[in-house]
Amino acid sequence: MYKNVLLNKKSQIDYWSPMTEKQHIGINLFQLAVLLDVDEKLFYNFVINHSVYCVKCRGIASKGIEVEEIYLTERNDIRVQGRCRICNGSVGRLFAFGEKKEFDEKAYRLRKSIGPPQLHAQ
Ligand SMILES: [Zn+2]
Repeated sequence: MYKNVLLNKKSQIDYWSPMTEKQHIGINLFQLAVLLDVDEKLFYNFVINHSVYCVKCRGIASKGIEVEEIYLTERNDIRVQGRCRICNGSVGRLFAFGEKKEFDEKAYRLRKSIGPPQLHAQ
């Protein structure tokens, strides 16, 4: 399944475990949808559209933000990077979902399904 990885990076596989090696990884919208339950999705959408602080606007990005990158952090929180829809300034927001046991478990399963981190991937 991870043939290329195994061939090129065997030494990294040997000690890697999704339980101990929680890295900051990029995820896509589909993976985000798998992680969030109904309430978390509502909360996420509300924050994206109404509650992200924009440094350039010196206030809430009142037209919401365009999400460009989504990360699952070391603590199993979600970090979003994007652009303010008003000024196009760079904005970011952390969602502390990792504190919730259910989310933490789903994040663990996602990490396991993705497999070992590609250390050279950007
Ligand atoms: Zn702005």
